[in-house]
Parts: sequence; C-alpha cells; structure tokens
Amino acid sequence: LDIKNEDLRKLADLGQGNGGSVVKVEHEPTGTIMAKKIVLIDAKSSVRKQILRELQIMHDCHSEYIISCYGSFLAEPNICMCIEYMDKGSFDGIYRKIGAIDINVVCLVAHSVLEGLTYLYDVHRIIHRDIKPSNILLNSEGSIKLCDFGVSGELINSIANTFVGTSVYMSPERIQGAEYSIKSDIWSLGITLIELATGRFPLCDISVDDDDLSDLDEDRESEFDSHNKTPTHRDSIFGFNKKANRRLSKRVDSTLQHEDAVNSMSIIELMHQIVREPAPRLGEQFGEEAEEFVDACLAKDPHERHTPKTLLEYRWMDDARDSTFDVKAWAATF
Ligand code: ADP
Ligand code: MG
Repeated sequence: LDIKNEDLRKLADLGQGNGGSVVKVEHEPTGTIMAKKIVLIDAKSSVRKQILRELQIMHDCHSEYIISCYGSFLAEPNICMCIEYMDKGSFDGIYRKIGAIDINVVCLVAHSVLEGLTYLYDVHRIIHRDIKPSNILLNSEGSIKLCDFGVSGELINSIANTFVGTSVYMSPERIQGAEYSIKSDIWSLGITLIELATGRFPLCDISVDDDDLSDLDEDRESEFDSHNKTPTHRDSIFGFNKKANRRLSKRVDSTLQHEDAVNSMSIIELMHQIVREPAPRLGEQFGEEAEEFVDACLAKDPHERHTPKTLLEYRWMDDARDSTFDVKAWAATF
C-alpha cells in the first residue's frame, strides 16, 4: 500500500507524546481507518532516507501482539507512520478513565507484552526500549498490542527533542548508563504492571489532587536542600515530603516533557531514587503468582532479572494462557 499524505483525512487527535503526535485518519482510497504518527525530526536528507529504510522492518512485523504498519513516508519536516488504529486507546488512558485495571486484564497485558517482546527479539533482533502504559494498546476485539518499538536507531537519534529516551520507566542500570538490553524492557514492564493494577504510578506513591498545588513552589528550595540529609519522616517510599511527591507525580506522568526542562530537578532526583532504593512491589492482595512475577521483573540487578522467555514459564503466565476472562466484554464497559 503506497500511502500519500494527501490521501489521508484527519478524523481526530489521539494524543501527543514526547517525540510527536498521533491522529486518527481515514485513508480515503481504501476507506481504512489508521493512526498516523507524526514525528518531527532533525536530520539531513541522507539520514531521513536511512530512517525510512529502517522503518521498513515494521512492515515485516507480523504478530498478534504487535501493531501492524501500513506505511511510512516523509512529509517535511516530519516523518509519518501509518499504523493500525486501536479504538480503545492505550492503557494509561484506560486506567485514567476507569481506575485501577482488573488484575485478570493486567495478567493478559503481561502475557501479551512478553509474547510481543519475544517475537520482536527472536524474529527481528529488536529490543523495544519504551515499554510503558501508553505504548500498550487495546481494541474492542479485546486484542492487546505493543507499539512504538525501537526499530530505527537513526530515528531515535534524530527526534527533535533532547529528552527523548528519558523516561521514568527506565531501569536502574540504564539510568547508570548501561546499554539497553531486553532486561531493561522487563523492568519497565514491572513498573507498568504495578501502575495498571493499582491505578497509579508506583514511584511517586501519592495520589494527585489539584487542590493545593498552588503553594508548592514555596517548598521547592527546602526540598532540594534536604537531598543530602536523611529524611526525618518517610511519607513515601522515597522519603520525599508529600507536597514534593504530589508535584512530582503530577509532572513526571510518564515521560519528561520539553517544557518541563526547568523543573527537571525532581526527575533527576527520582532517577537517583530508582538506583538507590528498593524496587516497588505489587502487593499481596493481587495474589501470590502475580506478586512473584512482578518481583522477578523488578530485580534491581539485571543479572538476577528474568528474560521474557523465562518469565513466560512463571505460574502467573499459565493463568494467562488458561484465562477465560472475556476482554472483549470488559472493553465494552467503557
Ligand atoms: P506516548 O506514547 O508517549 O503517550 P505517542 O506520541 O507515542 O506518545 O502517542 C500519543 C498517544 O496516542 C498515546 O498515548 C496513545 O493513547 C495514542 N495512540 C498511539 N498510537 C495509537 C494507535 N495505533 N491507536 C490508537 N491510539 C494511539
Ligand atoms: Mg507511544
């Protein structure tokens, strides 16, 4: 399918991320509904062509756990990727809408992500590099699929935003400068699963309420003053005070945004904490199998952390394979 920009009719905005935006479009010649991802890139034309070549890999990805791709093209100064439209959106949007996700669904998310990662790695030697709730999509058929995987090294290098790749889902070893490995994706999966099951991002253990955010700037100074001291009271797993934490959870959301560069001190501090503090845990209320699985994802030492293949052998993944949970019916409730 040779897709031209002028054949696409915009239907709606789907969202905005760090590197660009996504719109729902209709490909008029065929009537196909697609998601068009528009990425602003900062690269010379030889590099742009290289990016397009690298994106070809996406066409060769055929897995029920991976978003399919219709085509990519240049629309200066952007690169556009037309991908399968998922009508229930991404899991971050879903839990913000309906609250914590049913653990039966979280179990199936874990299984789909592992199968997707295994496919990408075994068949194409690709590491995903950006596992997070907004890159796990659902459709009303009940299919759960991965998108936004790192097919193109040149694209990653060329996205016109300095903070691309800085994510609060990053593993301790990545924060410390180690190369990406398939195990870094497993850490991000562990964080993602806790976030979905509890309905909140686990590294800022406090809910956001907008009521008293106005006075937050006042304690900015004191927050940073206390960095090198032992916190006197531990309101959160990281020993931040509640106000600082609330601001942090409001700001870090999923990825550091461009405008937030001036506020990035807390992100840096969060990264320090990921390296220093014990990993978060799922909690026993979700069952022993789930807890054991998430603990295996969140081993801080990558040598102790499991790979997608060995995680697929965990008891919780047997539950996923034997699951009779009706995701399609569940998806129809929101
Ligand atoms: P991020 O993943 O950091 O949120 P993106 O630019 O990748 O940023 O995506 C923005 C939003 O667009 C996502 O949060 C998701 O909800 C939505 N989106 C992305 N791809 C699709 C798709 N294929 N179908 C439906 N919605 C999508
Ligand atoms: Mg994305």
